[in-house]
Amino acid sequence: MSEAALPMTGPVPQARLDRRALLEFLNKHSRLLLTTHINPDGDGLGSEVAMALWLRSMGKQVRVLNDSVVPNAFLFLARHLPLESWEEERAEQRFTESDALIVLDTSNRQRIGRVAEVLSRHVIPVAVVDHHVTHQRGFGQVNVIEPEASSTGEIVFELMREAGAPLTPDIAEALYVALMTDTGSFRYSNTDSHAHRMAAELLAHGVDPQRLHAQVHTHASAGRLRFFGEVLSALEMLDDGRVVVLEASPEQFQKHGLVGSDTEGLVDLPRTIAGVEAVALFSEVEPGKIKVSLRSTGRVAVDEICSRLGGGGHIHAAGVLLRGTRADARAKVLPELSRRVAALEPRRTRTN
Ligand code: 5GP
Ligand code: MN
Repeated sequence: MSEAALPMTGPVPQARLDRRALLEFLNKHSRLLLTTHINPDGDGLGSEVAMALWLRSMGKQVRVLNDSVVPNAFLFLARHLPLESWEEERAEQRFTESDALIVLDTSNRQRIGRVAEVLSRHVIPVAVVDHHVTHQRGFGQVNVIEPEASSTGEIVFELMREAGAPLTPDIAEALYVALMTDTGSFRYSNTDSHAHRMAAELLAHGVDPQRLHAQVHTHASAGRLRFFGEVLSALEMLDDGRVVVLEASPEQFQKHGLVGSDTEGLVDLPRTIAGVEAVALFSEVEPGKIKVSLRSTGRVAVDEICSRLGGGGHIHAAGVLLRGTRADARAKVLPELSRRVAALEPRRTRTN
């Protein structure tokens, strides 16, 4: 939502109040600790780096501490400041030396992983900036949660504009990584005119899209592609070809030397099959721990299926972590997905 689109008179929308409260929160605190969700993606990390550089330019002390390590694809973002991962002692120290915590790209306390454990031992004000669909208000004193934003990076961009903060080339780059990755390079349904206007603005501030795309998308190992090949060649078509199911076993992860975040992008590939409404990936990274990823091609809502099981996400891309066997996870997810797909109107077929 741009400043210009906000009404000048009448009741002040909640979103505007929340943004204002966040800007006050930033002004009030001088030693800020930033964090994002476990297995961080380009949006979580890009938003952290952009916000950290912005806060630094305001003369603040800034630290970034996440539960998980930075995937190789995003290591280049760490050249500006350390993007630290969880270590008990380090976490204690970071919390002790900070006077506020900012949580980016999740409004679910559990999703910040082990950082949540340290948080429960420290009395520290929290601000949340996120764009996921949530059914609660967020766990911060201040919560800027805007599900209509393409990415958390877009919210950070808007906040900076409202604050009159200059977009340096480094900040523009971090924000572009956030926007590009969360929109699937401007392909997903969250790609709208705001996302494209923001991209144009970032390009005007020095972003080289081709270089950034290459930075992010040239880190795969041969094993990862072989793993994709194996999983894809075993894909199942259910519900008359409208639901695709993929499974990955702990042995497959081990055989190819991969970790959970290496499945990034895999669940999106079967969306290219004609007639598919939804894709489900059951990824058993460690025995008994099943990461479920759901994707829709645009008509069926998948976030509710995950949020009912304790996860969440967006209407067309959601996930949840389940305990048990892959068969248990399938039994929890697939009947509900099939029911939703069966309730859809038939697709209109092309007449020419
Ligand atoms: P992915 O399937 O790529 O891991 O995630 C798709 C979307 O769902 C992302 O926006 C991600 O943040 C969200 N998501 C994935 N797993 C979980 C989860 O366990 N809990 C919640 N709340 N959201 C998740
Ligand atoms: Mn995001």
